[in-house]
Amino acid sequence: MMTLQENYQQIVDDHRKYVEQGNTVDYTFRKHQLEKIKKILKDYETEIYDVLKKDLNKPDHEIITTEIGIIHTELDFTIKNLRYWMQPEKVASPLTHKGSKSYIMKEPLGVVLVISPWNYPLQLSLVPIIGALAAGNSVVLKPSEHAAHTSDLLARMIEENFDPSYFSVIQGAVEETTELLKQRFDHIFYTGGSAVGKIVMRAASEHLTPVTLELGGKSPAIVDEDANIQIAAKRIVWGKYTNAGQTCVAPDYLLVQESVKFKLLKAMKKQIKSIFGKNLIQGENYSKIINEDHFKRLVSFLNEDHIVHGGEYNQEDLIIEPTILDKIDWDDPIMQEEIFGPILPVLQFENIEDALSLIKSKEKPLALYYFGENPRMQSQVMEYVSFGGGAINDTFFHLANPYLPFGGVGKSGMGSYHGKASFNTFSHQKSVLKQTTKFDFPFRYTGGTVSSNILKKFLS
Ligand code: NAD
Repeated sequence: MMTLQENYQQIVDDHRKYVEQGNTVDYTFRKHQLEKIKKILKDYETEIYDVLKKDLNKPDHEIITTEIGIIHTELDFTIKNLRYWMQPEKVASPLTHKGSKSYIMKEPLGVVLVISPWNYPLQLSLVPIIGALAAGNSVVLKPSEHAAHTSDLLARMIEENFDPSYFSVIQGAVEETTELLKQRFDHIFYTGGSAVGKIVMRAASEHLTPVTLELGGKSPAIVDEDANIQIAAKRIVWGKYTNAGQTCVAPDYLLVQESVKFKLLKAMKKQIKSIFGKNLIQGENYSKIINEDHFKRLVSFLNEDHIVHGGEYNQEDLIIEPTILDKIDWDDPIMQEEIFGPILPVLQFENIEDALSLIKSKEKPLALYYFGENPRMQSQVMEYVSFGGGAINDTFFHLANPYLPFGGVGKSGMGSYHGKASFNTFSHQKSVLKQTTKFDFPFRYTGGTVSSNILKKFLS
């Protein structure tokens, strides 16, 4: 019987052979694979809803917008642009290269390993895969063991529709992933927490495999004194409590100018009811926490002295009400780690400059949201603070624009994907110079003083 190690090696070898034999070179082949994913989403639609409810109790609206909808947008955008992206890109050649033409070819990297998390288990698996397949790679997917129903369905959907040497799923937890990471892949795309990100990068270094790390961090939402408070309240509430806050780009904490705090919190409380409804604790129209460990960690943040909204929880169904904690300080425990749940700490500021300096003194966040109407201040905030990506007067939506690369910076990640950024991430940019043989300038070669004089002239 094969060991796990031998089994994985066989799988990776088969995948590499599949690409090396040229099966994925063709535009029509690649387009057909993407269309197949579109069809699969339709064919398995009922089951998709079922598993996302079992794993996370996701409401239908969230399944449509944040899972299936984002995958469809990415598919349509990629299918529409694929032929163009695959073309060699012509670039100029300098005068010293007269007679030549230069271009960049987009070559598949080979076998791509995608390791995905549990919070958007379908979307965060398939969106990177769309880019990897579009770029002509074969893919091994390792979905999260914590969203077990979705992982099982992903495995089945892929097994029933794709050549196993081209696109396959390996399920498992730490033991399996540790073994899998010993294999030589041509690119590893990891989404999840930074502790495992380090493990992935360490393992990848053994084979000098490039990595994309989509990590997390504490993403602030800043509300300035001139913000449209009603709109800010609605968009922050939606961005924070969708998927019960288990979203990498959710506003982790709120920084509000002190003169508008009362009005904003009042509006947010109203919006929580209006967007998510009233029976949240029974899990109506509202996601649950993924497992007991995460639930306990989150409940430990619920300090009675600070709760100004919510704070109720239902241990049996792992549900925590959308909660707002006021009068929070930078030193409080909730400010020391990414929350990744439906609890929003509120900090206030007097001067926006002080607030920005404080954010800047922390690790670079994955996202930043600024609410304010002054265009000069909007630009200043965007320029002054470094973050993965973000929005002015919105939350979350930058992620759903396939024209924008999505990724972190510093501790929130490295590399990016979505749309053309995905295609580039999963392609080798092969530079080619095509030189003429119709003439041959002597100054290219060591040839005494004549060549040197011509070269000196070029360079002066
Ligand atoms: P997780 O526990 O599902 O882990 C992610 C993946 O890593 C899983 O496939 C898991 O099997 C694997 N894994 C876990 N332990 C491992 C180990 N010791 N060795 C090898 N592999 C291992 O997800 P998580 O880490 O709880 O996800 C939450 C984090 O992910 C948050 O920090 C969040 O911000 C981040 N996140 C980032 C993005 C993004 O796009 N940047 C998206 C979603 C989540």
